[in-house]
Amino acid sequence: MPLFRITTLIVLICFGAALSPTHVHQPINAADATGDLDHSIKPGDDFYRYANGAWLKTAVTSPGQPSYDTRAILTAITSERVRHLLQGAAAAGKAKGSLSQKVGDYYASFMDESRIETRGMAPLADEMSAISAITNKASLSAYLGGTLNNEVDGLTTNADHLFSVWVNQSFTDSDHYVFHLWQGGLGIPDREAYLDPKMAALRAQYASHIGAMLELAGIGDADLKAARILTLETQIAQSHAPDADAADVFKQNNPWQRADFAVKAPGMDWDAYFQAAGVADQREFLVWQPSAVTGTSALVGSQDINLWKDYLRYHLIEHYAMVLPRAAASAHFAFYGTILSGMSEMPQRSQDAIAATNAALGQAVGQLYTERYFPPSAKAKAQAMVADLVAACRTRISNLKWMSEPTKEKALAKLAALHVGVGYPDTWIDYSSLEIVRGDAFGNMRRAEAFNRSRNLAKLKQRTDPNEWRIDPQVVGAVILFSPNTETFSAGILQPPYFDPQGDTASNYGSAGAGMAHEISHSFDELGNIFDAQGRLGNWWTPSDLANYNAATAKLVTQFNGYCPLSGLCLNGEQVLTENIADLAGLLIAHDAYLLRLKGKPDLVINGLTGEQRFFLAFAQRWRRAQEEGALRKQVKSDIHSPGEYRSDTVRNVEAWYKAYNVQPDSKLYLKPEDRVGIW
Ligand SMILES: [Zn+2]
Repeated sequence: MPLFRITTLIVLICFGAALSPTHVHQPINAADATGDLDHSIKPGDDFYRYANGAWLKTAVTSPGQPSYDTRAILTAITSERVRHLLQGAAAAGKAKGSLSQKVGDYYASFMDESRIETRGMAPLADEMSAISAITNKASLSAYLGGTLNNEVDGLTTNADHLFSVWVNQSFTDSDHYVFHLWQGGLGIPDREAYLDPKMAALRAQYASHIGAMLELAGIGDADLKAARILTLETQIAQSHAPDADAADVFKQNNPWQRADFAVKAPGMDWDAYFQAAGVADQREFLVWQPSAVTGTSALVGSQDINLWKDYLRYHLIEHYAMVLPRAAASAHFAFYGTILSGMSEMPQRSQDAIAATNAALGQAVGQLYTERYFPPSAKAKAQAMVADLVAACRTRISNLKWMSEPTKEKALAKLAALHVGVGYPDTWIDYSSLEIVRGDAFGNMRRAEAFNRSRNLAKLKQRTDPNEWRIDPQVVGAVILFSPNTETFSAGILQPPYFDPQGDTASNYGSAGAGMAHEISHSFDELGNIFDAQGRLGNWWTPSDLANYNAATAKLVTQFNGYCPLSGLCLNGEQVLTENIADLAGLLIAHDAYLLRLKGKPDLVINGLTGEQRFFLAFAQRWRRAQEEGALRKQVKSDIHSPGEYRSDTVRNVEAWYKAYNVQPDSKLYLKPEDRVGIW
């Protein structure tokens, strides 16, 4: 099974934390969440605890979940909803070929462990024969090409196949899709895991895991073969790009023509490889990690064919472990769940079934999900909010002091070209050619992979579609892509308390609005400044823009350096700067957008709170999080995001907050006007 890791600045993604299902009630937004407040605290002294004090007293962490927050709650709620949808769809009698039949039968087949047990390892037989039939470099290359997968999807790396493909526009041409080729082929997380002397114990555990999986498939000399497979993977890892390179997108912009492969990466029979991959006529490629392509290809040329065949057999079993008998699924969990992820108990089978159905039929599940939980009226409301945010952002950019006029023009053009998707796609994936058969968990997974792969490769012959949907609606998250210039917010994240289509405008803008504007601002800050309006690579700031920006942000570094959640544990203002700037931008833009929405009319008073008060309250509640000390220490040490309390304290920089809560100079959070920061 693949290991996923985010490695590049091209994509920022916020996935919900994995969470075991708990019975939680749907949270409500700030207008109604007044029971969460602590009225014994003055807003100006500790706004975070004023807004969240009662909630924080009841929120609990648990051993598998050292941090507990709104995202975690929404992930649990959404997962329960999806479970009910899938279980309902799995009940017999759905029209053949309907979405309900497909997702229901996929889920039911995955859950049918006795059927999976009865079939044993037999489903692997055809593929095992194909591996056994490999006799030379050409047939090995063809097999590798034929199993190229598209698991990477632009967000992650190190799939369990030797290489992965992501079909996306290039860094210089926004009109055409190209074939982005990524490194892969490893079974433990990254290059360091193979090479770091401190990780020798993990490698030994991995080798025994490989041996156990080979034995399950009845392969002899398992331990010896496992050791050799680990050696081969270590050689592959040596060719992988170091992690430090992954953050530098300029190092990943390596256009190769088809003919370059034989010259730059000898070893693989590339004709056989691309023919089998179904892209024999593809001319242009973008090679993200050239060293990995060169190094791995050389290994195809130099290493014993029988070793490669054992490597492929092992990864085949591993890849399908969850749809093979219990012994394989358990062995898979013992290594990937327990040893690598620290989980003590195997999740319920239904959790894995939900994840597998989402992976295979993401938009089919999403269509059923949104029909029930995110109607067109909710989408329209979210789109109207996005329009307000973009309008507010336009004015803010136009009025910037630190950005030069020519740069502002470029920023405004980029804003005008930004595609923001909310909730669900306008056009759904057509799954009609994908056959899902009840009782065939293995075959369903194979067919779904083939379907998703050919759908992906077919895009190579089409013009780019900037509205291409990037995240399943039922995922609690958002995908921000600089190339193309798009941002996508799922229906899963657009629910209370972040966003309530029937609820209070002030709360929606203070919570979801500030979050979306945070992401939008990244397109124009020092992350987004290397991609233009069409998502092409090239810095559009001038050196003096950068110098002015750095000068304007210095005060925010000092402000956050002063926050110390525990004695001796203070924030590193530089480490969290980029995200703090985006929080501030998000808050300012969302507040402007809220005023735009009011069109000069006063907002209602709800539960004794003015609209202005609810706006900032929703912002502070957005960041609530119960956290064990260890998790807090880890976050302060390594996370680029500040702990929730200090994200909430961003309000100290905003004049309207002082007015809304009548915050005076004797308040603990009071900042003198000259100490307040206003970059955007
Ligand atoms: Zn951010």
